[in-house]
Parts: sequence; C-alpha cells; structure tokens
Amino acid sequence: MMQNDTIVAQVTHPGKSSVGILRISGIDAKQVAMEILGKIPKPRFATYTKFLNENNEVLDQGISLWFPAPFSFTGEDVLELQGHGSPLIIDLLIKRILSIKNIRLAKPGEFCERAFFNGKIDLIQAEAIDDLINSETESMVKASLNSLEGSFSIYIRILLKILIKFRVDVESSIDFSEEINFDCNNIIHKNFKQLNSQFLKIKKIISDKSVIREAKKIIIFGPPNAGKSSLLNILSSRDRAIVTNIPGTTRDLLYEYININGFLCEIIDTAGFHKTDDEIEKIGINRAWEALNKSDHVLFVIDKTIDPKKQKEISNNFIKKIHSYNNSIKITFVLNKNDLLKDNFDIQKIGDFYFVSLSALTGQGVDILKKHLIKAEKYKDQVGLFVARRRHIHQIDLSYFEFLKAQKEWLKYKNIELLAESLSLMSKSVGEITGNFTSNDLLEKIFSTFCIGK
Ligand code: GDP
Repeated sequence: MMQNDTIVAQVTHPGKSSVGILRISGIDAKQVAMEILGKIPKPRFATYTKFLNENNEVLDQGISLWFPAPFSFTGEDVLELQGHGSPLIIDLLIKRILSIKNIRLAKPGEFCERAFFNGKIDLIQAEAIDDLINSETESMVKASLNSLEGSFSIYIRILLKILIKFRVDVESSIDFSEEINFDCNNIIHKNFKQLNSQFLKIKKIISDKSVIREAKKIIIFGPPNAGKSSLLNILSSRDRAIVTNIPGTTRDLLYEYININGFLCEIIDTAGFHKTDDEIEKIGINRAWEALNKSDHVLFVIDKTIDPKKQKEISNNFIKKIHSYNNSIKITFVLNKNDLLKDNFDIQKIGDFYFVSLSALTGQGVDILKKHLIKAEKYKDQVGLFVARRRHIHQIDLSYFEFLKAQKEWLKYKNIELLAESLSLMSKSVGEITGNFTSNDLLEKIFSTFCIGK
C-alpha cells in the first residue's frame, strides 16, 4: 500500500554528535534528491555529495544513500542523508526538505508503520525493532533480534495457516454440503488435533523461550513498619522511599525499575494494609490492592521480631484475602529485621510458599531473595529467546479459549455454522498478533509508542 505523501525525520538522536542522519521515504524522495543533491545517487552506494539550499548554496556535505522501492526498509523510495551532527545544520536541512511540495515530518514509528503496510515486516517484527532500541539488558537485545528475524512470527504464521485451512474445510462443507461427499466429521477432528498441537507448541515456547518486554511487576506489601520501604531501597540501591518508624509513611505507590543480574522488574512499594482513619492513607491502601491485582509477584513483608503467632495470623489472613483479588499472583514472604534475631539468613519452603529471612537494613539475605525472584520468574539467559509482549500472550490465550469452547460445542451439537463462527474469531485474535487482522486504532496505538525516526 503506497502512501501518497513523503515523510522526513532525523533518525539519529537529537543533539550534538559527529554525524546526523535524515531519512526521507515516499514517492517524492526522488524529488528531494534532485533538489538537495542535484542528482539521484547510485542505488545502495555511499555517495559523497553537497546538500544544497534553494539558492544552490551549500548547507552541508556528507554521504547520501539511495534505496529505490521496493528494496528499502519501508518498501518505498528512501533517501538517507548523513551530514554533520549539528542541531542547527539538521534543522536547516529539515526545513529545506519540508519546503519541497508533498513532504511532511514523520510521526513516531511511521517508517516502521510503512514497512509493515508494505509487507516488509509483520507487526511482531515492527515491535521487535522498538524493543531492540529500548532494550535494557543484554538478553533483551538478543531476544529482540531473534524476534526481528521472525523466530516468533513463524509459529504464529503456521497457526494462521492451519486455521485458514480449517476454515476452508468448514466453509466449503457449509456452501456445498449437499454436493461434497466426504467424512466431514473426520476432517474436522483432524483439523482440531492439528490446531491443538500448534497452540500447545506456541504456549510451550512462550513459557520456555519468551522474554516479556514489559518488566515483571513485583509488588511489596505488608503491615506498616515491617520494612517495605527499606526493602525497596535496598533492592534498588537508592534512598528513594522515605523510611521512618512512623506507621503509614508510604501513602501512595512508589515505582522503581531494577535490574537483577539482567532480569528487569518493576518494583512497586505500597502503603501496605491496616485499618486507618486517615482519608489519604485509605486511598493509598485501596490503590495498593488495585496494584496487587495487576502484579506478577508479591513480596509480603513481615517484621520477624513480632510474636510468631501474630506473624502466622498476618500471613494466613493475607493468603485468604489475596486470592479473592488475584489468584495467579506468586507470593513470597519476606521475614524482615532478621539482624535483630539470632536466626539464619535463608529461604524455606513451608507448604506452597517461600519464606526468606533477611535484613533490609544491613542487606544480609537480600541476595537470597534476588536469586529466588530470578528462579521464580523463570528469568532466562539462554540462546533462542524472543520477545513476547503481554499483548501477544493475551491474544493466544483468547484464541485458545475460543478453540476449547469450539471443540466442546462441536462434540455436543455438531453445528457447522457455530464452528465457522468460532474459527473466524480465532483467526481474528491470532491475526492481531502479526497484524493480519489488526484494527487501525490498535495499529495507531502500537506505532505511536515508537520513537520519531523509526
Ligand atoms: P514500612 O512502613 O513497612 O515501609 O517500613 P520502613 O521501611 O519505613 O521501616 C520501618 C522502620 O523499621 C524504620 O525505622 C526502619 O529503619 C526499620 N527497619 C526496616 N528494616 C529493618 C531491618 O531489616 N532491621 C532493622 N533492625 N530495622 C529495620
């Protein structure tokens, strides 16, 4: 799908640097080359040229690169100008280019968007480019590169292929039910089997090989004064949360990104839970429960110096309450202030839960907690990883849920129209991952989070 306007943006970071690169993409890129360079450079060759203004005066000089359509990143004619990285020169050049008819500034992510619309990359790969740029750990870089090369897309494409074949089989048995004489039930069962095995394969590779781009959300919760803010501070190695011995000091949520040996997580410190008459504190406590609902893991901090019976009562009450909010959240109990006791700094599994004895004040035992988090969150640092966004996993879950429903209904009612409808819903959910069936609104939302020049 060719766009009828041409876009320009600086692709290097704004600010002073040795080189500044501009990218121009679209049908009038040729015109830009003619006006700025006085010629169209030889395709895919680095050509040293002058960059000219309207009066043929030299604005700058540098390397120009010409990628004629369709053999370019966007699939359109692309001109790249590599000049000196002075913000003033870049600004003058952009102004000069914008004075040419039909040229406008690119929106964030618009080069990727054009590459997507022109079939150069799918949506997973476009997202991988953004993930690569925003990678905060080495494994994230490796995983984004794998996604960019299509290692996740391929599984989704196979799933879509199976779905399309299934739909063809089903639709043709609706359209020609009287003319076609085949064992419809048998074919449908075969298709169900094939689809199920591909869904399971994808779920397995997501669980074994995916790195979630969005950081894991780890929430710190517990009674006041147990040491929640001290734990946040020691985990993030910063004095960000205010630590006092006055209960209720953390009234709102505090967020901190931390990198534990390459494992990126977002730590949320909360007001904890307790009865209070302070209205502001009440809001903080409610927000904490809302945040718990959206978190992957809770570190429930207990002051280990208090009566063990009381500790047990607090932890049991929490377990009872949390499961009505979020029953997939992982729970780790942090027995804090262990420095005041003669106990070991260790981790113990009691029933279904882990208890880590540590001191958020001295730091003893904090490494045990970090190791435990890495293990519990299945952080991987191996080859063959790819990036999955929560969006991808959600779409797979949605379509697998529809699949199970369709299979059940087929066994019960043998209703081919109902099955056709379910298959269409599944294709839509899966297609949204790669962008085959993605609404314009969603596309706009995804690309608008990219940076300008990408
Ligand atoms: P929060 O209300 O749960 O956030 O608790 P804070 O982190 O504000 O800590 C409450 C008080 O306990 C402060 O005086 C801290 O210095 C103290 N404290 C926190 N962790 C420890 C610890 O591991 N050992 C000792 N001895 N004191 C601690």
